[in-house]
Amino acid sequence: MIANNIRGNMNMCVFCMIANGELPASIVYEDERVIAFLDLQPFTMGHVLVVPKEHVVSITDLSNEDAGHLMQVGQLIDRALQNSEIPCDGVNIILADGKSAGQDVDHVHMHVFPRFTGDHFGTCIDANIRLTANRDQLEGAAAKIRTAIENLN
Ligand SMILES: [Zn+2]
Repeated sequence: MIANNIRGNMNMCVFCMIANGELPASIVYEDERVIAFLDLQPFTMGHVLVVPKEHVVSITDLSNEDAGHLMQVGQLIDRALQNSEIPCDGVNIILADGKSAGQDVDHVHMHVFPRFTGDHFGTCIDANIRLTANRDQLEGAAAKIRTAIENLN
């Protein structure tokens, strides 16, 4: 709560709570500026959200350095997914900036998710086509991505 008050945000932001360790998440990568974890309602299994730790609604409010770092971590996750045991022939990287663009949480986040021939996703973004996943499934996928990240180094 103190951290949220410092940011001037009296409402609890779910991504700030994850970044603060106040909510569980299947984390695949973290550094001083960014945290990456599995989406609870994945488009495809292995769907990662890359999130700046600073509470900022729009990517346009990030410094150039932090925006660049966000994309660099997205590139890392893309490489990891394509080198993981998760089915992945390709990757979509999507950032929805604003409600009309489909932004559903008012804290910048970039979607990085696996694609493969014959997946159900198509080219549209629709909550109705999302999978359901339990924590064991998410942790299983997270472990594979963490391993793939380690193997990239
Ligand atoms: Zn936040």
